[in-house]
Amino acid sequence: MSRLLQSSRQCLSRLSTGSLFAPRRQPQLLLRPLSSSYQPRRQLLTLAIETSCDDTCVAILEKDSAGAARLLFNEKVTSDNRTFQGIHPIEALHSHAQNLAPLVRKALRALPEAETETETEVDSSSQGSHGEFLLIDGCRRQKPTFVSATRGPGMRSNLAVGLNLAKGLALGWDVPLLAVNHMQAHALTPRLVSALEHKRSSEGPRDPQFPFLSLLVSGGHTILVRSNSLTDHTILADASSIAIGDMLDKCARVIVPAEILSARGSDASMYGPLLEEFAFPGSGSGSGSSSAQSPDHDHEYNYNYTPPAARGEEIRPFESGHGWTLRPPHFGSGRAAAAEYEFAGLQGQVQKLLLERPDMDVEMRRVLAQATMKLGFEHLTSRLMFALQDHEKHAGSEMESKIRTVVLSGGVASNKFLRHVVRRVLDVRGYADIEVVAPPVSLCTDNAAMIAWTGMEMYENGWRSHLDVWTLRKWPLDPDADGGGILGAEGWYRAPITGQ
Ligand code: AMP
Ligand code: ZN
Repeated sequence: MSRLLQSSRQCLSRLSTGSLFAPRRQPQLLLRPLSSSYQPRRQLLTLAIETSCDDTCVAILEKDSAGAARLLFNEKVTSDNRTFQGIHPIEALHSHAQNLAPLVRKALRALPEAETETETEVDSSSQGSHGEFLLIDGCRRQKPTFVSATRGPGMRSNLAVGLNLAKGLALGWDVPLLAVNHMQAHALTPRLVSALEHKRSSEGPRDPQFPFLSLLVSGGHTILVRSNSLTDHTILADASSIAIGDMLDKCARVIVPAEILSARGSDASMYGPLLEEFAFPGSGSGSGSSSAQSPDHDHEYNYNYTPPAARGEEIRPFESGHGWTLRPPHFGSGRAAAAEYEFAGLQGQVQKLLLERPDMDVEMRRVLAQATMKLGFEHLTSRLMFALQDHEKHAGSEMESKIRTVVLSGGVASNKFLRHVVRRVLDVRGYADIEVVAPPVSLCTDNAAMIAWTGMEMYENGWRSHLDVWTLRKWPLDPDADGGGILGAEGWYRAPITGQ
């Protein structure tokens, strides 16, 4: 038992001077401010866990009453996928089991110091929750207001590792649990970015405002989502076969000359960036830029790109002028087509072409790389155009329902040519006033910061999760989907709205 004065700074110095070993006194857990000027801070603090796939992620996020957020911790450990050349569920599960608790322990050290000006007696030999604060390595730290964790969609046993630890923490700390939808978290990421940049006047609405469109383009997804409100997200288009990232990776393996590929090692995540770098040398591409919130202002690289001014131009084959053509994906027709992305056909054409012409020279391969991206990205924008036109038709002229923002997220969103294509197509098709934003890549790939932010927005809107909630392998975003979307899952309950 020891006497511990309030601040962690003092705590740290006391740890080093050995004054923790002061005379024993009866411990009391007091949180009585000594100074009359003491004002309790109205801030929210959450610890968040994400384990839906192969990344073990933990974050700590703080948000003040003015709406500004601070990311105090955001780390991940990715399971070693080399043995199986891809994600293996059991490997990923082992990795979560091994890495999650140590990562949470590391994160706890990033919690803000407890600030109350009190003299408090605690049992410093124990770690854990002491009323309103935690004792971490002998130092008083603020206790999270609530714990957030991914509940689904994802691999159930993997999700369970994170959700169960989150329940344990919520129980131990006696704070609420927020069991979050992973895809909702991806959709809300640009709002996290604006809170981190504090891009809002205290009375104004958060950016981007609802409704906004997001293109989630990654190795596993190609989804166009309209986010109508915090809990109402409509999937407007989805991949019918493979995801665009997968298509680009597989095309890169056959297009990029073997000597360049072998010089770059065997990291599976390099193919997309490598294809871009090969297609547009010197464009500063493939760097996975981490500060790409405003792609409109990327440095000017001359892509020599003419956007399709009408739908008819989008579905025209690419003529190389050297005896080969590439047909753009334009799966079916009508409304059903507008809801589908189809990349397997484009990939098949590229692979067949290089089987027939294995000796294609470097310059022609470069043209092929550019054409593959052009057709793939214009396929993305084609559904975006349908969505914007459809929205205009049905939403009427009310200002609050106008779409002002298109968000590009997921690993493929780091492709600068994609951002260029989206911007140019919007401009030429009458949507020059729509802003295109791309959150930093580190926040687009799986991470716990987005889970923390989603927990934050749900918490502020009065949502809490019961401690008996279980993982969900599938959990559609759309309220019209089977199961009723985010709020259709059982286990939510309401608390007073804090509305920050
Ligand atoms: P994610 O699934 O979100 O982790 O993103 C990984 C996918 O993004 C992989 O398919 C990568 O090849 C792809 N990717 C990353 N950077 C780029 C880039 N600059 N151009 C095209 N694809 C990329
Ligand atoms: Zn994800």
